[in-house]
Amino acid sequence: MNHPILLSPPHLSDRELEFVKEAFLTNWIAPVGPHVDAFEQEFCEVVGSPHAAAVSSGTAALHLALRLVGIQPGDEVLCSTLTFIASANPIVYLGATPIFVDSDRLSWNMNPELLQETIEQRAKRGKLPKAVVLVHLYGQSADIDPILQICDRYEIPLIEDAAEALGATYKGRSPGTFGRIGIYSFNGNKIITTSGGGMLVSDDPILVHRARYLATQARDPSPYYQHSEIGYNYRLSNVLAGIGRGQLQVLNERVAARRRNFDIYQQALKHLPGLEFMPEARYGRATRWLTCLTLDPERFGATREQVRLALAQQQIEARPVWKPLHLQPVFNGCECIGGQVAETLFERGLCLPSGSNLQETELERVIQTIWYSSRNR
Ligand SMILES: *Cc1c(COP(=O)(O)O)cnc(C)c1O
Repeated sequence: MNHPILLSPPHLSDRELEFVKEAFLTNWIAPVGPHVDAFEQEFCEVVGSPHAAAVSSGTAALHLALRLVGIQPGDEVLCSTLTFIASANPIVYLGATPIFVDSDRLSWNMNPELLQETIEQRAKRGKLPKAVVLVHLYGQSADIDPILQICDRYEIPLIEDAAEALGATYKGRSPGTFGRIGIYSFNGNKIITTSGGGMLVSDDPILVHRARYLATQARDPSPYYQHSEIGYNYRLSNVLAGIGRGQLQVLNERVAARRRNFDIYQQALKHLPGLEFMPEARYGRATRWLTCLTLDPERFGATREQVRLALAQQQIEARPVWKPLHLQPVFNGCECIGGQVAETLFERGLCLPSGSNLQETELERVIQTIWYSSRNR
């Protein structure tokens, strides 16, 4: 029996254990310590942001970000619909209402024109959204400039969910560093991992300072325990920050390996009719965190689901593209601007095994299985 091939497993280097050992030897086993400080600084250098706060997850970072821009119960927040649910859950944690925005066909990310129309319409009606959560999907940056322009014009804070896009570029810079606040994730399946963890970045030192304060139960600076606001327990462990420091050192290699997976898949499969890979937008470089493709069942000769099941039979884990949030039972009744593009991508889209530690023989197994499930090859 063939061994299982996973979608996006962790990939450690030989550096993390040294940092973890140091945490043990110095007894810094706490959600504070020298690795946390160093991880924040080193992360700032990698993404080119002046300030960062390490937290326990990407979701926690997003929750803090929305709190920091002042989201209140009853507010409306615009959010990409084609994404993982963690992009929108924190909107609901704060009692606000998400309004979803469809993707554009080229980048699969939020359609800037739709966003502009929506904001202009709402401005006329006199109820502006209080924030925009812009997701950079599958390692590819959204088209940030026109989105930032419209947000700036109406003074709506832009929060970038770059959980999947660490290592990508937009016009030479890191997505996540353009808006008021950016967030990243180090979950086990992301491009680098601390098992679980996240980062919040901003140009504004006061915001990042406040993020750290809210993440440590909003404790006032006093010798006794005094609290004037409700906070959270969201700081990253010093042990896990050690893993993060090691992972950060190999980020470029991880990006290169994932892009190489994509190239191999593309070379082998691009000739199959009805099969199209997620395009790479001209304005930047995608990390290909996951290699994604769409299948036109007519031309390919099999549906996305048939191909997924054929792969599963070979112990190969592939997943449909994110189910759009406006189709999620939990968001039943939430407004969505457009939605057809995201729905089609969900219906036809498949994410292939994309780990940076995939072996050539494993790639070959995936390719063979897809090849044989195409009836029109
Ligand atoms: C993984 C992910 C998150 C959440 O990150 P966690 O660290 O798992 O909380 C948020 N948004 C997107 C787009 C993600 O893929």
